[in-house]
Amino acid sequence: MKKETICIQSGWQPGNGEPRILPIYQSTTFKYETSEQMGRLFDLEESGYFYTRLQNPTNDFVAEKICRLEGGVAAMLTSSGQAANYYAIFNICEAGDHVVLSSTVYGGTFNLITVTMKKMGIECTVVDPDAPEEELEKAFKSNTRCVMAETIANPALVVLDIEKFARLAHSHQVPLIVDNTFATPINCNPFVWGADIVTHSTTKYMDGHAMAVGGAIVDSGNFDWSAYPDKYPGLCTPDESYHGVTYTEKFGKAAYITKATVQLMRDLGSIQAPQNAFLLNVGLETLPLRMERHCANALAVAQYLSEHPKVAWVNYPGLKGNKYYELAQKYMPNGTCGVISFGLKGGREAAASMMDKLKLAAIVTHVADARTCVLHPASHTHRQMTDEQLVEAGVAPDLIRFSVGLEHADDIIEDLRQALEG
Ligand SMILES: *Cc1c(COP(=O)(O)O)cnc(C)c1O
Repeated sequence: MKKETICIQSGWQPGNGEPRILPIYQSTTFKYETSEQMGRLFDLEESGYFYTRLQNPTNDFVAEKICRLEGGVAAMLTSSGQAANYYAIFNICEAGDHVVLSSTVYGGTFNLITVTMKKMGIECTVVDPDAPEEELEKAFKSNTRCVMAETIANPALVVLDIEKFARLAHSHQVPLIVDNTFATPINCNPFVWGADIVTHSTTKYMDGHAMAVGGAIVDSGNFDWSAYPDKYPGLCTPDESYHGVTYTEKFGKAAYITKATVQLMRDLGSIQAPQNAFLLNVGLETLPLRMERHCANALAVAQYLSEHPKVAWVNYPGLKGNKYYELAQKYMPNGTCGVISFGLKGGREAAASMMDKLKLAAIVTHVADARTCVLHPASHTHRQMTDEQLVEAGVAPDLIRFSVGLEHADDIIEDLRQALEG
């Protein structure tokens, strides 16, 4: 099936006389006839639902759809993109382990790994994703357990050379985890280029309407954990909390997602509400149509801005001449995303006053939904930083993050024109 068809037809498959639309299994718990059967479920001897903190059918049907869109073998939903990235790493790292992290990842991911996971004893080395391979090699240590990066970084819009990163990770016998939130599986499938695990903040384009916070993790099934039992004891040696189940032996290619579900979800509990999974599923149905329009609109806006005399610079990987144009053409030939960034010749002050004049584009802390929105990181998300600190963090003081929505491109451009010239 092509992706357009997967988005509509996969996941929930109604039987005769059953609801056509994915039902919301609004139930914390599931009923069984015998105590013995319930016992087998707890021992992972039998598969079945028993408590929504671990698994819920509505969530699983939606995860299955995302899994097929990415071309993976198993997937799970989480309560947020933050939870997805946390579980994706924590599933294979523990105190004493080490992560190689791209410097341009989303601020939330950066803090998660460099601040919170550090307190858990997991170290990390931050690398420049554009650095040559010889340079990146130096970041790996004997206790490195994974590499983490983003297909299109939020908000720097750096396009990842996925093949380069996969090659590096694999030459050090560790998996590459790619956060594919901005590109979505419609525009890029990181597994095709060697990534092993993909994560998403479904809050963004997948939901697409700014309705529900959510996340997802997808496993390609390609990384052979059992070849490195010393590195991945959590997957390759018995889990005493399940009477000695060894995930790689019992669940094969589903080992990684099964462990994240039955161990991390059980213990940490960041499950997505079934109601939110239902909304996510509605969003997924139109994802291909929306991505096409987001990209077309963003390109039109980026072209307009790049020719405007008051605009100092425009960053959009879909724009010819952009530093990442060639990489974007290779990894996402049908389009990148709807987010662009730009700066004004008047700098920081001009940015703030232009934004106040926008009528259609709203100032909100969000990106990647149907409504055009705008944010000035130096005044909002990063306002505690000095100009020097901002530059170090890869956020220019004049950077305006502009998330192009699904309105008509002419109206979005007219809004920018009146704000720039008014
Ligand atoms: C928003 C975002 C996240 C965090 O997701 P939440 O759903 O807000 O928790 C992670 N990665 C990227 C690339 C994002 O844009």
